[in-house]
Amino acid sequence: MLGVVSMDTLPDSDVPEIAFAGRSNVGKSSLINALTGRKQLARASTEPGRTRELNFFDMQGRLRIVDLPGYGFAKAPKEVAARWTRLTQNYLRGRVNLKRVFLLIDSRHGIKPSDEEIMKVLDSAAVVYQIVLTKTDKLKPNEAQKRLEETSQKIARRPAAFPVISATSSAKRDGLDELRGEISTLAL
Ligand code: GDP
Repeated sequence: MLGVVSMDTLPDSDVPEIAFAGRSNVGKSSLINALTGRKQLARASTEPGRTRELNFFDMQGRLRIVDLPGYGFAKAPKEVAARWTRLTQNYLRGRVNLKRVFLLIDSRHGIKPSDEEIMKVLDSAAVVYQIVLTKTDKLKPNEAQKRLEETSQKIARRPAAFPVISATSSAKRDGLDELRGEISTLAL
């Protein structure tokens, strides 16, 4: 894992990258760990100490996973994008090898105002983002289906939103193979 705090020290842009974003506690570390099959690859949000802003994980030289800082923790939605510091915003706007952002949404809560703020940033940067619903094990199948439909309606008119939504549970390992399949289309 490579932690980066400045645009000057980003790794070479010769390998495709995908980035994971979401509100704090959405299950981002759990999903990254589940997808990569490694334990504690991504740090839990509760880990004390300074968190490097962008964390890069090499996937056998074919792809890099970039863990973006969580957002939205008890903050007004307007402040969300502002708290995503310049490095994160510069990374999103200027990274030529960034293939897609996976925007994680807790399936119990759906898209929140803070997520909408992040979508605005991604829409204006023309970075394609794919919604990934997390923690679907916490919902009954019909509730999960409803959330999926509601979410696809909410993104329908957003210019950079990828039309396919993934539904996942890291705990039950549901939806991970489909998501891996989607990700592998972006790798070298
Ligand atoms: P992060 O802050 O987005 O990195 O979130 P974490 O991965 O640290 O997860 C936040 C909390 O949600 C932890 O208590 C996890 O155990 C829990 N969690 C994460 N994924 C799932 C899931 O798929 N199902 C359930 N039931 N809990 C989950």
